Amino acid sequence: MITIVQSDITMLEVDAIVNAANQVMLGGGGVDGAIHRAAGKELFNACLKVPEVRPGVRCPTGEARITPGFRLPAKFVIHTVGPVFRDGQHGEPEKLANCYRNSLALAAENGCKSVAFPCISTGVYGYPIEDAAKIAIQETRNFLKSHRCIDVVFCCFSGYDKRVYDELLRKSESTYERKVDVTCSMEANIPT
Ligand code: ADP
Repeated sequence: MITIVQSDITMLEVDAIVNAANQVMLGGGGVDGAIHRAAGKELFNACLKVPEVRPGVRCPTGEARITPGFRLPAKFVIHTVGPVFRDGQHGEPEKLANCYRNSLALAAENGCKSVAFPCISTGVYGYPIEDAAKIAIQETRNFLKSHRCIDVVFCCFSGYDKRVYDELLRKSESTYERKVDVTCSMEANIPT
């Protein structure tokens, strides 16, 4: 199921929240700073332990890494690095799609049943929200075809961003989530 909320992502009680991190993974501004502040110093220390793949890079653009959530209500933080938007002709859409794909795969591998995403790359990295939201929804839908019982929350910080997501979801097949929802409840009732 896909849900759209307007919230501070650090408040959400989900299995994993996704962080729009940078490659060094040691905190920054925007949502990254908010997550590090709310999770506490332990998150910084856990990030330090993530091995560098090359000097100054713990997580290359489009990839994802997982740590505990420490003082957050969320059990895990999935750190992913979105592309810096130049003009859309430098592989930005594919890199942003990879962020969603890899974060969701990591969530599933770690048994997460609910995952919340901020609007990756749409702050300081400058990705236009309308284009970024299309990619987020498309990649998530693809993923949910094979992982029907994971709940994905798009956590928008601004009312404008939420309206963009709401509108895009409304335009696309709105019965999709309802169908998935019913199937999940039925599966939950099957005795093991
Ligand atoms: P990036 O560098 O990937 O662009 P930013 O943190 O600058 O990352 O912005 C990404 C998105 O996160 C923006 O839409 C911004 O409004 C939003 N954001 C900032 N703080 C929070 C927060 N506490 N909870 C949810 N979203 C947030």
